[in-house]
Amino acid sequence: MHAQDIFAGGKTTFSFEFFPPKSEDAGHTLFENIAQLQTLKPTFVSVTYGAGGTTRKVTQDLVLRLKDETTLDPMPHLTCVSQRLSELDELLERYASVGISNILALRGDPPRDRPDHRFEDDDLKRAAELVAHIKRFNDRGFHPDKRGFGISVAGFPEGHPATPNRLEEIEHLRAKVDAGADSIVTQLFFDNRDFYDFRDRCRLAGIKVPIVAGVMPITTLGGMKRMADLASGARFPAPLLRAVNRTDGSSESVGRVGVHWATEQCRDLLDHAVDGIHFYTLNRSNATREVYATLGVKDSTALAETL
Ligand SMILES: Cc1cc2nc3c(=O)[nH]c(=O)nc-3n(C[C@H](O)[C@H](O)[C@H](O)COP(=O)(O)OP(=O)(O)OC[C@H]3O[C@@H](n4cnc5c(N)ncnc54)[C@H](O)[C@@H]3O)c2cc1C
Repeated sequence: MHAQDIFAGGKTTFSFEFFPPKSEDAGHTLFENIAQLQTLKPTFVSVTYGAGGTTRKVTQDLVLRLKDETTLDPMPHLTCVSQRLSELDELLERYASVGISNILALRGDPPRDRPDHRFEDDDLKRAAELVAHIKRFNDRGFHPDKRGFGISVAGFPEGHPATPNRLEEIEHLRAKVDAGADSIVTQLFFDNRDFYDFRDRCRLAGIKVPIVAGVMPITTLGGMKRMADLASGARFPAPLLRAVNRTDGSSESVGRVGVHWATEQCRDLLDHAVDGIHFYTLNRSNATREVYATLGVKDSTALAETL
């Protein structure tokens, strides 16, 4: 469903992020988890695109398989780092031809082995340019929906590390919306006050599109450390760290703390009538299912109706 229709109802959306599996076994496990997550009836699911386009083919395969074999509505991530316009168009055409409704348009980060990547050499240098490019693609009328793809972009409640000037950063975010983005999905955060302040700053800057809050239940110590690296800039509040430190460090006890924290975040986000909650699932279903269970609801429909 096109982003404009998804958010038109004014109900909180619930969505899940997956990344393309790295092996056949991981693919089987992912689809076992997806079967369970499907019962939670998410509004849409998103599929990441590896740094520098490294998962181009596997991202596409997973998106098409989700579209073919499940009832889920997949939203592919698309990044423009190191991607030629022809490569981007090829993907857009493929996605349009199978009726994919929305794209999460990102600049992306270069692969780790190319830290000196020069963005200015890319065909499209930043996400705002990719949004404008997708809009031009939409105007070609290739997509079965005459509006073309709905477009989401990334937002960073605690700020994007490359732009320490927060006033400038919000202007850059507004440029993506002005270029045609229909909604914003945020980086994960652990303190809702950061999100509410970000939402207020967006509104003050004239950014009126729906803003979906990124939530990641911590499941293991290792996962938490990896996330601190991947979602650079994300702040781990002292009360969360204290709660983690009180555990014996096992996945079971750290997972309980993580689910409890994420559940409280979600309860509070729902009380503040957020436009949407996006779960970073790390391709596992347990933590997300436990959050729903602890909120006392069967699926996303029930959550949206509690507003
Ligand atoms: C929800 C979400 C999903 C993500 N999924 C992926 C994924 O699948 N694959 C992946 O590789 N990465 C992903 N990322 C990470 C993201 O690609 C990186 O954080 C990247 O560094 C920024 O991407 P962006 O789309 O925000 O870029 P942009 O909006 O282009 O911003 C990049 C930086 O440039 C600055 N900037 C923007 N415009 C200007 C300007 N005119 N002048 C000067 N500076 C400017 C911004 O302030 C920011 O610091 C995701 C991030 C989020 C929040």
